[in-house]
Amino acid sequence: MYAFNDKILVVNLDNKTFETLKPPLEYYKKYIGGSGLDARLFIDYGGLEASPLSKNNPLIFMVGPLTGLTYPLAGRHFACARSPLTTFWGQGSSGGYWGAKLKKAGYDGLILLGGSDKPVYIVISNNDIEIRDAQGVWGLDSFKAEEEIKKDIGDKKFSVATIGQAGENKVLFAAIQNDGGRVVGRTGLGAVMGVKKVKGIAVYGDREVSVYNKDMFEKRYYESIKKVRKAPATKILRMHGTNALFEQIYEYGDLPLKYWSLGIWDIEKIRKLSGPSMTQAILRGVKACYLCPIACGREFEIKEGPYKGVSGHGPEYETVAAFGPLMLIDDINFIAYAGDLCNRYGIDTISTGSVIAFAMELYEKNIIDKNETDGIEIRWGDKEVVIELIRMITFREGFGNYLADGVRRLAERYGEQAKKLAVHVKGLEFPMHDPRAFESWTLAYATSNRGACHTYASTYYIEKGLTFPEIGYDKPLDRFDYKSKPLAVKKLQDIYEFLDSMVMCRFHLYGGLPIKDVLDTFNLATGWNLTVDDALLIGERIFNLKRWINNKFGVDIEEDRLPEKIFIPLSEGGTKGHIPHWNEQIYEYYRLRGWNERGIVKKETLERLDIP
Ligand code: SF4
Repeated sequence: MYAFNDKILVVNLDNKTFETLKPPLEYYKKYIGGSGLDARLFIDYGGLEASPLSKNNPLIFMVGPLTGLTYPLAGRHFACARSPLTTFWGQGSSGGYWGAKLKKAGYDGLILLGGSDKPVYIVISNNDIEIRDAQGVWGLDSFKAEEEIKKDIGDKKFSVATIGQAGENKVLFAAIQNDGGRVVGRTGLGAVMGVKKVKGIAVYGDREVSVYNKDMFEKRYYESIKKVRKAPATKILRMHGTNALFEQIYEYGDLPLKYWSLGIWDIEKIRKLSGPSMTQAILRGVKACYLCPIACGREFEIKEGPYKGVSGHGPEYETVAAFGPLMLIDDINFIAYAGDLCNRYGIDTISTGSVIAFAMELYEKNIIDKNETDGIEIRWGDKEVVIELIRMITFREGFGNYLADGVRRLAERYGEQAKKLAVHVKGLEFPMHDPRAFESWTLAYATSNRGACHTYASTYYIEKGLTFPEIGYDKPLDRFDYKSKPLAVKKLQDIYEFLDSMVMCRFHLYGGLPIKDVLDTFNLATGWNLTVDDALLIGERIFNLKRWINNKFGVDIEEDRLPEKIFIPLSEGGTKGHIPHWNEQIYEYYRLRGWNERGIVKKETLERLDIP
């Protein structure tokens, strides 16, 4: 098979053995790779029967057909398991080089089964696989562990994915970081790796993966690089990172303020956190994933104040928003420091910022007090308290032990009033975009299989001016119109699932490589002849497979509800008076999906899509 390795490495940590799986061709045809094959193999390897924090929960890393080839924006990888945070389908993706190296080592994926008694790390070097003792690195933060593992192997060419102390302590939103700051952040997969006692996975490979039409593929690479370089978004993302349009996001009312309760904030404070200000204040360099000319990653160094001299990776937009306006902080030095600390400890910055901001609101409203918080006054904007809480979450100390279980469980602990204030879907904390600002977030957050998520259905692209003529959208959609959204969200979710099965970075859509370009490249690489309709059907199958898995875990319409707080209109700002139209959209969306009125995938839909 071209563009694939046709091989997946399966490591059994119970008895420290490994074998190679050759998935049936039918799996590749139906689910491609990446996010799609992840879900199919999750079923085969006992995911439906496993509880989230048991060693039987399979942790599956997957790359795609374009990963590791000479093609831009295709260097990412996916990971999945049953989520410890939501208890439903859990998934995340990361950039860097790790995925490309796994592909070049000769594998389309890596499945971790069972769990080790003692800490270990895994070394994959082309065909050589080794499971090594990791007691010397257990207890180290993610970055130090990465460094020590590389030293131990004695070869800097390896990419290493690691967990920090948060994963070891089973913080429910623990992350898996790789390549010095790229992260599988959401849904707590770092805790699954911690349960398995795997501290790190080092990969290196130097094999070329053959493609169907080598000459045309090479030509396409140079054309694609030119297109990406010419795209206006490339320049902006390279200069200022994902935080480039901070001010514009605020103007739309898309940026959450004071834990989703304010419509406006001092514009000077917003400007202090914008991409250009951040570039001026702390940027030390830019960082790219494998073969990516965009290089949206940031390298920072703090030049003044209490964190002077600290350097690291980031912060991205989500981190700036979560440790900034969400908790009423306007200090970019502090935000860079807090984000770096989260990366080192190995916790998701979105969930961490959210649960701390939620605690600030509970404290302000006297739902919790000092008796609950180990004597700490958790007030809006208190930076020292935030740093202390990050540490307490990581080590599950005192009140931090409750925060480490996420917003949903924290709210359940403090009763009905707290539950009305908690902002999550399916237990996953909202990313830093407000459904009051873009109506498409309503369904995207409600129905995303991993819970409130801004990446698997970045549906608001179409409300911000991007068009998708290949799937019938040659004009942008009005951001407050809800009638057009059920179909648009469904179609975008389907096509994104297909693109995620190839493991393309979502920024290709802004970066001069529209859907048709990527699909043609896929056909050149594989020798297949998929059309846009085929791609939509495959994406629809993958999306429904995950919904079917979630149905089995107990997800129905009750888990598709948006939090009450988001239905409170804001009196000022970019969303003034507007609230999401959930009720008006959800049943039409279910109808288009072929689900019943409880949100269960109908038998005829499963049959039509040939699931599983
Ligand atoms: S755009 Fe950013 S995240 Fe995407 S591949 Fe390039 S550097 Fe990585």
